[in-house]
Amino acid sequence: MNDDLDRQNNNIIANWARKHSLWVLAYGTGCGAIEVPPTMTSRYDAERFGITGMATPRQADVLLITGYLAIKTLKRVIRTYEQMQAPKYVIGFGSCTINGGMYWDSYNTIKRLDDYIPVDIFINGCMPRPEGVIDGFIKLQERIARGQAKGWQHYQENLDWYRANQKKVIKNWTMPDYNW
Ligand code: SF4
Repeated sequence: MNDDLDRQNNNIIANWARKHSLWVLAYGTGCGAIEVPPTMTSRYDAERFGITGMATPRQADVLLITGYLAIKTLKRVIRTYEQMQAPKYVIGFGSCTINGGMYWDSYNTIKRLDDYIPVDIFINGCMPRPEGVIDGFIKLQERIARGQAKGWQHYQENLDWYRANQKKVIKNWTMPDYNW
């Protein structure tokens, strides 16, 4: 299975096409969500880079998590991520996804998003401006082109580790154990 996954990641032509066609599911978990509309609309026009919005996980390539994440929302985020088709990418948007940010000692939010789902690019700032968001997308495109955006592969290979972390914080785990 690992060889198959590596072949998918190292296909230069497929990666070139993927990087120019990123359909983004923006999951507005925190205040950073307010920067998504200006990034996507005419002023900053992310579509000129092949980046556009998508309404459903089944058709999205990128999951954009826009800030702090309550534990009850984490459950939905995991389910959403697992319903996306591989190859798929995650962007952690804002300091809250990196270390908890200003919610670091909250009883009901997680600190590091990459303890629960794989994150390919973090965009720091509280909140990041559209220029920072576009810069993060361009860095993701560069990683895709080099075959280095392998978070989805890491998730499949280390599912037990991710599941253990997820179940440590989500006490009422009522989802199927395998969601894709
Ligand atoms: S990083 Fe700042 S702007 Fe983003 S969700 Fe956290 S507190 Fe809100």
